[in-house]
Amino acid sequence: MQTQRTPLEYIFSWVTEDRIECQGCHYQALRYVEGMDLSLPILKKDKDQWGKRRLVASVQEALSMYTSREVMDGKNKYSCPCCSSRNG
Ligand SMILES: [Zn+2]
Repeated sequence: MQTQRTPLEYIFSWVTEDRIECQGCHYQALRYVEGMDLSLPILKKDKDQWGKRRLVASVQEALSMYTSREVMDGKNKYSCPCCSSRNG
């Protein structure tokens, strides 16, 4: 459904590009997500000596985590349409 945007929405909305690349055949799936807010991670992946995840130190650090590459495996594993059609 197409909705009319106000000038403010037009200025502050953006589109983020989600790119998923298959490590097997290098097929790339692109997804564009339009939004007006950004969900930045505030917890790092590594843990301190008490087993707690550390907080990011700055917005810059959160942004660089947000835009970093991530390998999807285990239960996050992406099923590639190319590979799955090749493997039956
Ligand atoms: Zn593939």
